Amino acid sequence: MKKNIILALFFIISFDVFSQESESPNIILMIGDGMGLTQITSGMYSNNNKVALEDFQYIGLSKTHSYDNLVTESAAGATAMSTGKKTNNGVLGLDHMGNPQKSILFICQDKGYSTALVATSNILHATPAAFFANIDDRYKYEDIADQMTKSGINYFVGGGEQYFNSRKDKRNIINEMSKNGYEFVYNISDFEKNKSDYIGFFTAKDEPYYVYNRKDEPVELFKEREPYLARSTKSTLEKLKELGNPFFIMIEGSQIDWGGHDNDQEYMISQFLEFNQTIEVVLEFAKKDKNTIVVVTADHETGGAAIVRGDLSSSTIKNLFATPNHTASMVPVFSFGPSAHLFKGIYENTEIFNKLLSIVNK
Ligand code: MG
Ligand code: ZN
Repeated sequence: MKKNIILALFFIISFDVFSQESESPNIILMIGDGMGLTQITSGMYSNNNKVALEDFQYIGLSKTHSYDNLVTESAAGATAMSTGKKTNNGVLGLDHMGNPQKSILFICQDKGYSTALVATSNILHATPAAFFANIDDRYKYEDIADQMTKSGINYFVGGGEQYFNSRKDKRNIINEMSKNGYEFVYNISDFEKNKSDYIGFFTAKDEPYYVYNRKDEPVELFKEREPYLARSTKSTLEKLKELGNPFFIMIEGSQIDWGGHDNDQEYMISQFLEFNQTIEVVLEFAKKDKNTIVVVTADHETGGAAIVRGDLSSSTIKNLFATPNHTASMVPVFSFGPSAHLFKGIYENTEIFNKLLSIVNK
């Protein structure tokens, strides 16, 4: 009898040690929308020849084509990474036959993870929406907002308030979500102070447009936003850590793409540099935490950007663009932390999902 008890104790103790060793890692996926090598290099040369990505341990390349188009867009690109399925351009969270797919965010939730989404677009925009929505058209924002109410995501930061409270069906989703435990804030200091387990931080009614070079124009025309990505990311990471569970977070530098569409190098680089600052914040967290994997990649390149000349001593460069649209070039994948080696090599964008899945299922 005594022997049995001692044996049982031994198993309990050894199981406990085992479970500590294999504690699920936090996952931080960072997507620079439209961030190809030229966007990164342009930002680097504009930033004293330095970029936070130099600290990453492994580098890979991702093939970005969608199911129905060699040149993807953000919905199909993000769906590939969030669900492991190539789908048609414009589609969120469904395979090319229209079957709903469970995203890595929800797979993590099932494993007890806390979750968050932070973006510099509206929070229902294609890239963040691919992590919680299943819908045939990325622009059905009011339907996507409805799907957000059922997501159980702990923290989300981005624009798009109007799709929650100025809707055609007259529902006020903000009130509905408030009844279900969410708190809503409208500026960064309120976000930082709020201790709730569920917070929506709306950074704009519609898109949090960034207007950097139009100081000569009346500000109210453009609703200039302050850069908030790095600071809100830092606060979100602290909140997630505080919750005590492992966590999954997707952080998007949404407007690198918009600068590329505009063929506007200043806009594009300003957005990359804000993303770069955010990578610094994330790396600092991951280095301290030691059980956090960070993956930084893009959904596609935008603009067919090239660097045609420049000057290192003054950190100036000149970009030319081949198109106002996306291109089909492979995009880099940078990884840091436990299991980071999985991300080296050349692979389809759907493999990013599979690699993350293998980390969660370990
Ligand atoms: Mg996007
Ligand atoms: Zn785009």
